[in-house]
Amino acid sequence: KAKQVGGSGSHIYEPIAAVEQARRMRLEQQMRSALRDEQFFLLYQPQVDLASGRICGCEALIRWRHPELGLVSPVQFIDVAESNGFICELGRWVLMEACSAAASWPSDIPVAVNVSAVQFAKGDLCADVRSALAASGLAPDRLHIEVTESTFLVDPGRLLQELTELRSLGLRTALDDFGTGYSSLSYIARFPFDKIKIDQSFVRGITGKPANQAIVRSVKSLAEGLGMSVVCEGIEEPAEWQMLANLGCEQGQGYLFGKPQTADELLSLEQQLPTALSATG
Ligand code: C2E
Ligand code: MG
Ligand code: MG
Ligand code: MG
Repeated sequence: KAKQVGGSGSHIYEPIAAVEQARRMRLEQQMRSALRDEQFFLLYQPQVDLASGRICGCEALIRWRHPELGLVSPVQFIDVAESNGFICELGRWVLMEACSAAASWPSDIPVAVNVSAVQFAKGDLCADVRSALAASGLAPDRLHIEVTESTFLVDPGRLLQELTELRSLGLRTALDDFGTGYSSLSYIARFPFDKIKIDQSFVRGITGKPANQAIVRSVKSLAEGLGMSVVCEGIEEPAEWQMLANLGCEQGQGYLFGKPQTADELLSLEQQLPTALSATG
């Protein structure tokens, strides 16, 4: 990636870095009007109870329908929005949109929203959450907030305070992408998370990887000791589901159960899923 070759002085990569720079600048310039023009939308990926295969929640994942570039993935624009602070405004929109969608569903499953470290550092996340809940009428326990380990790097004191306040409002909190970042065991113990989401890199192909099985087993026992539940990301195979359920992981997410999809698709899947899956495996 262009980012990694920065400063290497290699001429070969300079054109790539320039193209990458131009791409970021273009997205950066277009983001604000894109929000006004309603080019952003949310998809919802099912989260299932691993013991039953039943949908027990969903995660809201942002997409950008760009007039020239087509569908742009958050991997391509979230860090751009973080670097110019626009993520605070975009994050407020995501919270509002996810809460009003979930409040309108004929189902009481919760919705999980990803929140960037920048929203903790620069924004007023609790105020944004309160407004989204008030405007939508969503019950607070139906809103879950996912943060990654990078959030620990900003201001741990502030993070602790905000997470504590969110939970006192009735929300649930989750530590996302666990195992890929910077967290020390003491951080995990000190912060009030309801769930630990094991990153998909430990889940993918777990049935053939004893080392990953050992990691998941120990994360599960850590989580249990701290009163947290475990969510496994990126489950694609029935055998992975089976193994993770046997290891005692409570919840899972992955293409096996459903890709990120529209709310209507999610709600109809919620009716079918347990039967559909038991029929295949
Ligand atoms: P994440 O929060 O860890 O979300 C899970 C990502 O894994 C999603 O990618 C999802 O589509 C993908 N995924 C789920 N199951 C599978 C699977 O079985 N196989 C594979 N290969 N992938 C799977 P997506 O939607 O591209 O989002 C990428 C990241 O962008 C998210 O990772 C999150 O960190 C960030 N993101 C997405 N929406 C938002 C948002 O509204 N706000 C913020 N701040 N970040 C967001
Ligand atoms: Mg997430
Ligand atoms: Mg994740
Ligand atoms: Mg991620």
